[in-house]
Amino acid sequence: MQKPSINHSFQYPGSIGEMPSGPCADAGVLVEANAGWRVFRPVLDAAKCVKCLKCWLICPDGAIDRSGKDYAIDYAFCKGCGICAYECPTKSIRMEKEGDDVE
Ligand code: SF4
Ligand code: SF4
Repeated sequence: MQKPSINHSFQYPGSIGEMPSGPCADAGVLVEANAGWRVFRPVLDAAKCVKCLKCWLICPDGAIDRSGKDYAIDYAFCKGCGICAYECPTKSIRMEKEGDDVE
């Protein structure tokens, strides 16, 4: 899934008359980060990752960041569902409780 971005210029409709008749924003555009309620966070070990793309394909929030040399998790968008850790064939992703020390 394509990594999401935040549209800071988005304006909520001020009244019912200003409501759009179609979608109010382009698909994939968010108005705020969505990770405030995450209980567990995935931690990716780049040394074990073979870049098979599986986590990137299945993450429901598009939170796998492939823009750098190694894959990383964008915690601004990750909701901590754990699907990536469950599906990773090399067990490169582990789930840690939020608040615990992470590397
Ligand atoms: S599923 Fe695992 S091995 Fe595959 S790209 Fe993601 S972290 Fe790397
Ligand atoms: S824990 Fe869920 S939301 Fe977060 S990166 Fe993994 S699959 Fe995506």
